[in-house]
Amino acid sequence: MVTQRPAHPGAAAFSSEAQAPETVDVLIVGGGVCGTALLFELARYTDVERVLLVERYEQLAQVNSRATNNSQTIHCGDIETNYSLEKAIRVKRTAEMIVHYAELLAPEVRERCVFRTPKMVLGVGAAECRFLRQRFTTFSPHFPAMEWLEKEQIVDWEPQVALRHGELRREELVAIGIRDAYTAVDYEALSASFVEQARAATCGSDRRLDVELGMTVEHIAIENHDAGHTQANGTPQDNTTFLVRLRPAKGDGKGIPRQVRARHVVVNAGAHSLLMAQQMGYGLEYSCLPVAGSFYFTPDLLRGKVYTVQNDRLPFAAIHGDPDVRAPGKTRFGPTALLLPMLERYRPASFWDFLKVLRLDWAVLTVFWQLFKVADIRNYILKNLLFEVPWLRRWLFLADARKIVPDMTLADLSFAKGYGGVRPQLIDKRQRRLMLGEASIQARPGLVFNVTPSPGGTCCLGNGAADVEAIANRLGCRFDRDRLAAELYGETAPQSA
Ligand SMILES: Cc1cc2nc3c(=O)[nH]c(=O)nc-3n(C[C@H](O)[C@H](O)[C@H](O)COP(=O)(O)OP(=O)(O)OC[C@H]3O[C@@H](n4cnc5c(N)ncnc54)[C@H](O)[C@@H]3O)c2cc1C
Repeated sequence: MVTQRPAHPGAAAFSSEAQAPETVDVLIVGGGVCGTALLFELARYTDVERVLLVERYEQLAQVNSRATNNSQTIHCGDIETNYSLEKAIRVKRTAEMIVHYAELLAPEVRERCVFRTPKMVLGVGAAECRFLRQRFTTFSPHFPAMEWLEKEQIVDWEPQVALRHGELRREELVAIGIRDAYTAVDYEALSASFVEQARAATCGSDRRLDVELGMTVEHIAIENHDAGHTQANGTPQDNTTFLVRLRPAKGDGKGIPRQVRARHVVVNAGAHSLLMAQQMGYGLEYSCLPVAGSFYFTPDLLRGKVYTVQNDRLPFAAIHGDPDVRAPGKTRFGPTALLLPMLERYRPASFWDFLKVLRLDWAVLTVFWQLFKVADIRNYILKNLLFEVPWLRRWLFLADARKIVPDMTLADLSFAKGYGGVRPQLIDKRQRRLMLGEASIQARPGLVFNVTPSPGGTCCLGNGAADVEAIANRLGCRFDRDRLAAELYGETAPQSA
């Protein structure tokens, strides 16, 4: 069964630090979409007996996975022109796991989690149109739902995009469209559904999967460094356990700190995963560049998602327009890309955490210099700073958003206050480069720290499946790979034995 522990339960429910720590097989740190996806997969596809998920807020998915804090997109590589074909094919397989998962849900739950809309990537001007034409030829065999759209067809799909003052836009305009697919997702609702499904998978069994809210993981220590003996298959058995200190997040004296012993720890704490890894001496080869994203609302100008062609000199995705799944009748434009010295948006205290993971040295300065010396990037960073200046920001953003909706007016635009999270982009200090995807710091057997900038939401089940594989191999529990492959990858002929 899955139980949800209250934030500040009475002392009787807890063992104090002085008492023997309870033992769990797997401890998951962080109740965002990645932590909860892992909980679900452990519950449904393995027979692990004791799992504890610890989240420091009183509700799940209140940081980057919150519905208001990301672009609510299932990124599958068809309209994201910053993805190469190779990356798009890889991401598509993982992205489709969300859709397959949604098929397992009751219709009324599915409708809260995933959404069907049309989507397109728009080319404006001769160079972008040429680029899209070529991309369509290369990508469409792998993405059969892709349709080629000339101006006249774009009018049918998205009149506000193709028309200016009621006439077809003058400039060259084409698009690659996907008519009807699951394109949008509420990662917050998805997180809640993962916990519900985990509960359903263990209901009536002796297995215990606990979700503990309002509790911060303060410290992880290697308790028992035991390389163990060699298994029958020749691989060394590692029996190391971890002592984890938990502290009530509120600090109002009601909860009691305690320790937990875990056989395997997966840290899915967003940017804080890096901080926790570095506090243990791992992942020191990385620094972190937090890139916040803000959004702007308009009335419902678009029927589906409209992306634009990426400037390949810029490391961050261009702004796009998306119908907001939680705000019917509104379209959300963004995200911007603001360099912000914080690990968590709207939590100023996370500035100090940022300073800790920045680990400023010549390697980090070199990467900053490599970014700033490119005029496009420099101007982009400056523009994104100005996007945050009240009075000025709407004017500036309007100029960019008119590439998508040419008739948009200033009165249409309002800054989405309180929206937008922070993408923890890692800097690889050894290779002196900015990393764009997620990173998994495999600290040692049984201890992993996952850092998840975009498209981390899309990859939640894929990353979770990789962690489940490692957990099953190390703890020797049963893992029904065939069932996972059939249900989440949609494979009809199971590939594993
Ligand atoms: C502007 C923006 C737009 C984005 N758009 C998309 C998109 O369209 N599609 C997409 O796929 N991805 C998108 N992303 C990325 C996506 O939001 C993240 O990759 C995803 O939400 C990460 O999930 P997570 O569970 O790893 O992290 P989070 O959702 O950040 O969850 C981490 C959790 O760990 C908890 N935590 C931290 N430290 C501790 C501790 N010490 N103890 C206990 N708990 C702790 C936090 O409270 C938090 O709940 C976007 C991100 C941003 C910022």
